[in-house]
Amino acid sequence: MTRKRNLFGLDRAGLERVMAELGEPAYRARQLYVWLYRRRARSLEAMTDLGKGLRSRLESQFEICWPAVASREHSRDGTIKYLFRLDGEATIESVFIPEERRRTICISTQAGCPLRCAFCLTGIAGYKRNLEPWEILGQVAAVMDETARLEKPWNVVVMGMGEPLLNYEATVRALRILMDPEGFAIAPKKLTLSTVGILPALEKLMAEPVRPNLAISLHAPEPGLRRRLMPIEGKYRLDDVIAAAQRYPIPRGGRVTYEYVLLKDVNDSPAHARQLARLLGGSRAKVNLIPLNPAAEIPFGAPAPEAVDAFAGVLAAAHVTVSVRRPRGQDILAACGQLHLRDATGGASGSRASAR
Ligand code: SF4
Repeated sequence: MTRKRNLFGLDRAGLERVMAELGEPAYRARQLYVWLYRRRARSLEAMTDLGKGLRSRLESQFEICWPAVASREHSRDGTIKYLFRLDGEATIESVFIPEERRRTICISTQAGCPLRCAFCLTGIAGYKRNLEPWEILGQVAAVMDETARLEKPWNVVVMGMGEPLLNYEATVRALRILMDPEGFAIAPKKLTLSTVGILPALEKLMAEPVRPNLAISLHAPEPGLRRRLMPIEGKYRLDDVIAAAQRYPIPRGGRVTYEYVLLKDVNDSPAHARQLARLLGGSRAKVNLIPLNPAAEIPFGAPAPEAVDAFAGVLAAAHVTVSVRRPRGQDILAACGQLHLRDATGGASGSRASAR
């Protein structure tokens, strides 16, 4: 029996092709699009304005498929970590973070990550494959569906497992649907993509008509140290990444975020903070400091709270906007840098978790 094709994940053009195959006019594709993404219907049967005949023709060839939630872990602070089991034995994790004025979903774009940053469990645990658009969108749909009772604005951050710009086409197709007013209707300023700075893909993202906010995973103020922590520095250099990020089109008054994980006695001294201030001073930058969320497999320690305060103090004195990320879901390994691949039984796989 031939497997039915999944409608979920198709963009407007893809749905128009489906309707053309069935000899239907293009406006039917728009109706289907709104049902799939704005209303997030789980069955064709629910799409009453499509007409019975069309629905049954669609049903004979197509299905609506979201990734399956395999388990949920609840943190003491209200954070929920979702494990999704995908085809081909791949697993991914996504995190729901309730806050006072908003709710945030952190999603993954790859099963694992090939970039192997030294402080990040995702990189340490290895890499399986890129996600498809339906697998990226499905994380948002599933988490929204389960947490719909909380009426607060949504934020989506592409900061989970993987480097999104290494999976450009699928990620950008998913982002367009997330930001489309007839899709998930997430305002672009409520959506942030985090990248190490894959330069050719970053240039392409800049040319997109609608773009998310940009966060750059920096983690060191100079190339030598960055290369020790992030092998990708050998390919895309710190200065070039910052130069590209500074050209990223953002609304007036907006800023590019630079993420900096603080590792005890490695990159957390006042001298490092001064170097970072020189690197970013005068630009449209804000620095998000992330004290390391330790894990047994990560060969670094968490910085002392005084070191975090001193680091932030140097940046603030140099007029660089700075914030310190409060860890969420640490007790269930859902904080930054702690998401990782699981083996087929749900246990941690490989030898090493993502730090954005
Ligand atoms: S920090 Fe980001 S790019 Fe580096 S290994 Fe982790 S997920 Fe990959």
